[in-house]
Amino acid sequence: MSEKNTAPQARGDHAIDVQDLHKYFGDNEVLKGIDFTVDAGQVVCVIGPSGSGKSTLLRCINRLEEPTSGTIFVAGEEITHRDVDLDKVRSRIGMVFQQFNLFPHLTVMRNLCIAQEKVKGRKREEAVAIARKNLEKVGLAEREDAYPAHLSGGQQQRIAIARALSMEPQMMLFDEPTSALDPELVGDVLQVMKDLASEGMTMMVVTHEMGFAREVGDKLVFMDGGVIVEEGDPREVLADPQHERTQSFLSKVL
Ligand code: ADP
Ligand code: MG
Repeated sequence: MSEKNTAPQARGDHAIDVQDLHKYFGDNEVLKGIDFTVDAGQVVCVIGPSGSGKSTLLRCINRLEEPTSGTIFVAGEEITHRDVDLDKVRSRIGMVFQQFNLFPHLTVMRNLCIAQEKVKGRKREEAVAIARKNLEKVGLAEREDAYPAHLSGGQQQRIAIARALSMEPQMMLFDEPTSALDPELVGDVLQVMKDLASEGMTMMVVTHEMGFAREVGDKLVFMDGGVIVEEGDPREVLADPQHERTQSFLSKVL
């Protein structure tokens, strides 16, 4: 068969389109055929027990992990293609981790500017202006000269979000963004995420915050053992899970 006939196709006009994604670490198959789509402007929350493959899935979507097989389209472009420009892929997808991963030796402002300058090639003044806009958005405009160690965990995470936004990504992936935070700091971070969602940002959020999933999510995906067991409207899945594994998981976390 010709290359043309076998080339994978995106299934319509989705922000993210994951098709039959498999990922092995050695002999360990941690993603066993994942299929789903995210539409532009949607917020998709991903839940599931530890080790179910949630982080690996997110990391495959911006190619921090190499998928073993399967196809991923981001905004119609096949990012699993061997010729893809990885810097370009990653600069279109903002990622926020549980551990904020700020550079400890740099001020907040430098943290927000460095990738803008190095990856996007922006001039310092332009990078600073974009950084200020995003610091304002996360409510930390007055902290641009602070070092990360002088900020609370919640503030550091909001800085990490502002840093990702400063790359002006088309979508944002959050991997348990509030799991490392003291409970009283979680709300401010969730509020920033909620604001982003209402501005129309496309988001995938791995989270244990069921309230956020219920209130903000357009779709809830439950993963277990490397597969999507169940997905649907968050309010329906949380109130009336159809699968025994979903019921059992929710009974432990709700
Ligand atoms: P989750 O985020 O749902 O807790 P992960 O995606 O982190 O799950 O992990 C899924 C499985 O893959 C786990 O069994 C984990 O040990 C394994 N795994 C994750 N990353 C690696 C890696 N870099 N090397 C080997 N195994 C890994
Ligand atoms: Mg994880």
